[in-house]
Amino acid sequence: MANVNKLWSEWVPDEAAMTALGARLAKVFPESGLIYLHGDLGAGKSTLVRSFIKARGYSGHVKSPTYTIVEPYQVTGHTVYHLDLYRIADPEELEFIGIRDLLSERSLVLVEWPDKGAGVLPTADLDIYIAYSGQGRDVSINHASEAVMSVIKAL
Ligand code: ADP
Ligand code: MG
Repeated sequence: MANVNKLWSEWVPDEAAMTALGARLAKVFPESGLIYLHGDLGAGKSTLVRSFIKARGYSGHVKSPTYTIVEPYQVTGHTVYHLDLYRIADPEELEFIGIRDLLSERSLVLVEWPDKGAGVLPTADLDIYIAYSGQGRDVSINHASEAVMSVIKAL
């Protein structure tokens, strides 16, 4: 995560600020697309995804898909998928959860631990990195597809 590669970064002091960031991102990100969240256990990936999904209008409970691998959420006319690949032993396992159909829909997909799907997962529209930094977290974006470059400017 070299400095030179960062398109955007912000120090996020606490959980409330992380939740606010998820909502900001939800407001500017297109209706569909693929977002990868990188970072150690407890970095705040699920916190960010949870607030993103709620800001998109989902009012129910957003649980962590650590055991189910994928959780779908119906949000005003389309589906948001939240994936957590932490427990995947082999990227081939993604075939069993129907990853290709899921990605080919015009859906919004947010993936925690995308490195576990290396070789099977395509390039994301947005790569978000979260790192422990003092009492808070450093959140940075080091890759954005052409389609979502405007997100960086609006964030
Ligand atoms: P992950 O999905 O990356 O394993 P979680 O979102 O489940 O992480 O948990 C993150 C933990 O860190 C939660 O206890 C949350 O309250 C806390 N947290 C989230 N964002 C921040 C932040 N910016 N600064 C400090 N603590 C945070
Ligand atoms: Mg998580």
